Parts: sequence; C-alpha cells; structure tokens
Amino acid sequence: MNGYRDLRFDDFVARPALIENLRKAFGSGRVSHAYLFTGPAGSGKKTMADICVRALYCTGPEESRPCGTCESCRGFAEWQGHSDIYYLDVDEGRTQIRVENVRNIAFALSDSSSSGGKRCVICRRAEKMNADAQDALLKTLEEPPPNTVFILCAENVSQLLPTVVSRCMPVQFSPVGDRVIRERVLEGRVPAQDMEWILELAAGLPGRAFSLIENGSQSREIYLNAMKALTFIREGKGIAAAAKAVRCDKADAQDALYCFEILGRKLLKNDNKAGIALLDAVCEARSMLRSNVTWQYVLDTLLIRAAEG
Ligand SMILES: [Zn+2]
Repeated sequence: MNGYRDLRFDDFVARPALIENLRKAFGSGRVSHAYLFTGPAGSGKKTMADICVRALYCTGPEESRPCGTCESCRGFAEWQGHSDIYYLDVDEGRTQIRVENVRNIAFALSDSSSSGGKRCVICRRAEKMNADAQDALLKTLEEPPPNTVFILCAENVSQLLPTVVSRCMPVQFSPVGDRVIRERVLEGRVPAQDMEWILELAAGLPGRAFSLIENGSQSREIYLNAMKALTFIREGKGIAAAAKAVRCDKADAQDALYCFEILGRKLLKNDNKAGIALLDAVCEARSMLRSNVTWQYVLDTLLIRAAEG
C-alpha cells in the first residue's frame, strides 16, 4: 500500500477552506515564511506537510499541484532526496532536537550559492526542540532567509515558545468524521468485517487508521482482549481473570491503555458513571506507567477502578 504518498489536497475534506488556502499558497509558490501545523497524532499534519512540499516543487498545472506525474512528483514518489529540502529532526541516539541541529540548517540556508529556488525546512516533531534549539530557530524566523518556507508540526503547542508560535501561520488539524475515514482510507483497503473495529479505534484520525491497517491483527487482538476483560468484570468473574484476559506485556501497555480509553469513551454514551470511572482509571494508569510501576500492578489497579465504576 502506498497510502500517504497518493494523497492530495482534495483528500483532506474536513476543513475545506483552510486546506484550500494551503493548496493555493503552495501550488502558486506564494507562501508565508513559516507554518505551524498542530493537532493530535494521526490527524494529518505530516501528510499535509508532505503534500505541501510536493506541490511547491511540482511543475504540473498550478491548479492540480501536486500532479503526481511530473519529474519532481515522480522523484518524491521514489523517495529521492531533494537538495533544497532540510529536515530538522532528532539525531539518532538522542531524545531532543538540539541547538546544533538548528544552527546547521541556518548555516546551510545562509549559503547564497544555492540554486535560487524555493527552499523548505520541515520539522515533523517541533516539540522535540529543546529551549536552546527553539531560541536559535526563533532568530532564524525573525530574519527569515530568502525563498525559504518553514513547516513545523506539533501535537502540543504549549511545549513551544510563544514567540516561535507567533511567528508562524497556524493551521489546526482536527479529527475527521467516521464517514471520511471509511470512504477515503478504509474502502478498498480492508475487508468489510474489519471496518467497524478500525473505525472505533481510529477515532476520526486518518493517520491512526492507516497504521491500524498496517498492524491489523495485533491491534485487533489487543482491542478484543481489552473488551473481553471489561466483560469479565461486568459478569463478576473477578480482577485476576480480567487481567489475564488482557494478555499483553509492558511493550504493548500504551496500546492496551489506548483501547481502554476508546472503550471508556464508548461506555460514556450508555453508562456515564462507568465511562468516567474507566477514563479516570486510564489517566491514572498512564501516570503510573511513567513512574516505573510494574505493568501488572498498573493493569490490576485499572481493572479494580473500572470494577468500582
Ligand atoms: Zn507534479
């Protein structure tokens, strides 16, 4: 499957006006200096950044950029590098984007001997920049190099300096409806019997739907086991039996908690009190996991709380 790379502006139907603005700007090359794409993981920020970049370098008819067929578009489809595109990312073995990473790119951009075409800096995880890196980026954004557009993506704007945020054109990505996920992502890619559980777990996020298609059977198993555990609790079979039904180790803990969260949100519609109890329990479980408590203990505590609800 080649899902992401086939997508165009038209595939984003959730916020037509906003997407239309991006299509016009990147199709014509009349772009702002910097954009900040924000929204939950899987909401389409990185995919949209990719579409914008392809549109910027596309040589097809302006209104249909990225055309998918010109030399530039074909180069992107084959994952060839592009000398005018810079990726600001975490170095291997590190957890943060450091000031050196920003300075290296700023230095490359200051080289006036480049081709003179549009240059792009993409930062797919802007919140990974430490404070020094953000300070350095701010300086670059304050005196933007010519012919350069920055696209920053972030799940959480609160981790960015307000001064960085204020220098960027904001673009907010939100979950889309189930109908969009069904028609644009799932149909033709998954068998009918897998539609419902993927729709439930995707929760309106196209990127999550794509990764659920890729890790299908494992995600489905974790979800069904979480459901089974809650059924055991409802039937009074006890915490130990329910915990056993979850059948996953710490490596899959986050996925299991995500499934419990989705089930909690579903529960809210029929049984408000039980839904809130489960969602609170998931929150507590996440913070326990961060403090290095064993997964078995976290899971038992979650199920006890769920049973109390
Ligand atoms: Zn093209």
